[in-house]
Amino acid sequence: MTFFTQRDQQLCVEGVPLERIADACATPCYIYSRAALESAYRAYDDALAQRDHLVCYAVKANSNLAVLNVFARLGSGFDIVSGGELARVLKAGGDPQKIVFSGVGKTAAEMQAALAAGILCFNVESESELARLNKVAADAGKIAPVSLRVNPDVDAQTHPYIATGLKESKFGVPFEDALRLYGAAAGMPNLRVCGIDCHIGSQLTEIPPFVAALQKLLGLVDQLASAGIKISHIDIGGGLGIRYRDETPPPVADYINALGACLGNRAQKILCEPGRSLVGNTGILLTRVEYLKHGEHRNFAVVDAAMNDLMRPALYDAWHDIQPVHARRGTSRRYEIVGPVCESGDFLGRDRELNLAEGDLLAIMSAGAYGMSMSSNYNTRPRAAEVMVAGNEFHIVRSRETFDQLIATEKNMP
Ligand SMILES: *Cc1c(COP(=O)(O)O)cnc(C)c1O
Repeated sequence: MTFFTQRDQQLCVEGVPLERIADACATPCYIYSRAALESAYRAYDDALAQRDHLVCYAVKANSNLAVLNVFARLGSGFDIVSGGELARVLKAGGDPQKIVFSGVGKTAAEMQAALAAGILCFNVESESELARLNKVAADAGKIAPVSLRVNPDVDAQTHPYIATGLKESKFGVPFEDALRLYGAAAGMPNLRVCGIDCHIGSQLTEIPPFVAALQKLLGLVDQLASAGIKISHIDIGGGLGIRYRDETPPPVADYINALGACLGNRAQKILCEPGRSLVGNTGILLTRVEYLKHGEHRNFAVVDAAMNDLMRPALYDAWHDIQPVHARRGTSRRYEIVGPVCESGDFLGRDRELNLAEGDLLAIMSAGAYGMSMSSNYNTRPRAAEVMVAGNEFHIVRSRETFDQLIATEKNMP
């Protein structure tokens, strides 16, 4: 089922024409489909239905409260990487007992907050972090549940900025050290070993690297069992890719089934941490054409969204489909779709065949993941509004930032 369709000569999200949202909220504006979010979540939940499992949505992909709230209502868990994300999940009604806390740089204050909330597990990424967590837990009179993020040294074959499972990466503990570190953790009085996890990268479009990583993890689980260390959950991480252009990522069910075949009849609870594949294709960035510049060598469409709103094209040279909200007849031209920011890297799309007039609305597709959550105020641009569509209605789930909010914590010199 698709949630973004042309109807009555206009692009709609579920039952809502995009022009209606532009009239109410102006542009640029992120728009999400609640039904698309629910459908993406159910694909995971259904694929894992035969096992004891927990889907932990990776909050950093899109941390809007309403998005978190939609998942929380479905019973989702959450994978967080900061104290800020913890606070967001709690505010959105997420169950603390379904939170796993990842990240290489957890501060003592973040650990305290997570212990106070009573999270499910800390995904620990280094020996020093084990020691710090043990101390913070002791000071708080608590026992911290821990999993080690093991780096399986497999090549995820994705963009180098989002590959995380190779030896040279900053993430996780080296595979060769894992046994020793589990032994150390088991000996620390304020830690309780409960799981094992890995996360090898993002936007993976093939199953074999996931299988290779899981097989290495399972070998370790068996070795740990022989050493008397019991692992009660196996967290397979996130990273499944989506289709932006012509990628052909496996369906969620195929990916889960392939991992299920490796798992056989193991009794452990299975956790997964999908981010992009839960939200990426559930949102768009709506923007308006401000100016057209037709030149000798190139045509530019200067739109009101920019790299500060959607950083992926500038950062990863990522491709997003760009669709006109109202298709025009007549001849098209090749356009560079650029923003107003003073950087030549400020583009949203290159060499796009479109028939445009100034004032037209464009939808930047597949912008639900790592869009708003990576946005900034560069060029003193207030951050975009966010809207959630549900059926024939829409709700503003984040108002457009104002200039006063943007400078609220700044001061002139005394
Ligand atoms: C970012 C991240 C994820 C989610 O990755 P996606 O590619 O968005 O699915 C999962 N786990 C960890 C530890 C992460 O850092």
